[in-house]
Amino acid sequence: MAELTFVGAAGTVTGSKHLLAFGGKHVYVDCGLFQGTRETQALNDVPLPVPPAQTDAVVITHGHIDHVGYLPKIVHDGFRGPIYCTPATSGLIEIVLEDAAHLQQHLTQRGFQHEQHAPPPFYGDADVQATLKLLQTVPLETDFDVFGATMHYHNAGHILGSAFVDAHIDGKRVIFSGDLGRYGRPLLYDPEPLDTADVIVCETTYGDRNHPPDALGDFEKILLDGIARGGTIVIPAFAVERTQDILYSIGVLQGRDPQIASTPVHVDSPMAIKVDALFARYPDAHRPFIDMPELPFGCRNVTVHVTTDESKQLNNLQGPAIVIASSGMATGGRILHHLHNHIPDPRSTIVFAGFQGPGTLGNILVHGAKTVKLYGELLDVRATIVNPTGYSAHADQTELLRWLGTLKTKPQLYAVHGEPVSATTFAGVVREKLGLGASVAARGETVTL
Ligand SMILES: [Zn+2]
Repeated sequence: MAELTFVGAAGTVTGSKHLLAFGGKHVYVDCGLFQGTRETQALNDVPLPVPPAQTDAVVITHGHIDHVGYLPKIVHDGFRGPIYCTPATSGLIEIVLEDAAHLQQHLTQRGFQHEQHAPPPFYGDADVQATLKLLQTVPLETDFDVFGATMHYHNAGHILGSAFVDAHIDGKRVIFSGDLGRYGRPLLYDPEPLDTADVIVCETTYGDRNHPPDALGDFEKILLDGIARGGTIVIPAFAVERTQDILYSIGVLQGRDPQIASTPVHVDSPMAIKVDALFARYPDAHRPFIDMPELPFGCRNVTVHVTTDESKQLNNLQGPAIVIASSGMATGGRILHHLHNHIPDPRSTIVFAGFQGPGTLGNILVHGAKTVKLYGELLDVRATIVNPTGYSAHADQTELLRWLGTLKTKPQLYAVHGEPVSATTFAGVVREKLGLGASVAARGETVTL
């Protein structure tokens, strides 16, 4: 009899890890890092229910760090099985894990524990390289065998290469949503519809709310207001996908507003540039971009800053400018340096264009902190801080219900990957509106499939 244990992303939005046990084998769906508060990060140190050396395989839904960031750790601890993912996801995993290892080493070398949350280093480059050797790519819409279970990836529309997992195990059909994307986005295709299922493990990041209807209009207003203040508009953005979405939107707005068209755009993220290259390498994984092949996602007036020296040039910006850098929740990376410069400046605007996990600097700022500590210095927050959620790569409540509405059966749903309020609210809505059995997965809970 197959069993499922919720190891991570149960009561949190990070650390995605779902353990399947069947036929004497142990297989994880996703193997993500816990991020955010110290308490959440401490979960990275809790031993896994099955030792990595006795784990047989990992099936990855997509290349975000909270879904893949723990892979080098289990490889370090003895895991040697196959790691399945889609081709575009394998490209992202390489970029994301190498960046994670460098960030950890960098923090250690500086002997610097960032106030907000530098994780203790638990792996290095050698572990990442060993992890990459275990990757086995499987295209979308192709059956693959995992120790007797037949699995299949369908497009999830969340980021480049993202998929939801359709697993046939011991006569049961189990769906793992991974992170579900959105409908009608410019760069990615819509999530595939569902068919039948016995069990569905569903993300609930935005299970208790809906995104604003006019994300582009909201963004336009933010940019125009920021330009009118005459300062720099700093946009912390995940290098993986969010940066590309934002460039695309700025490109559209450049065609509408002369003020936006004449404002220089700076991308300060070597990682984002590598991700851009993946879009070119995997054309089947995204919508075709028409009429703009030579521009970065249709955006003009862009300077890309790769080296540290190029990044430092941004310290001397004069007049309105837009600076995009990672990471998106301001948990590390070059964005910290820009925030340090701009948080105290009343002319500056800081745009957090996505979900801000509890405990992150992004979360603290969007909740109206008057002062924040950064690089050991207490800074007065004088910049304008905004948090439009329209740029989320996650389905909102209506979109999650739309996707679940394509089911032809009534499976049992387990709500994961959401803060407790969001997961609980969504489970209630699913019971009421769709008539499914639905409960919130608890960390460590095991259910029989
Ligand atoms: Zn994700």
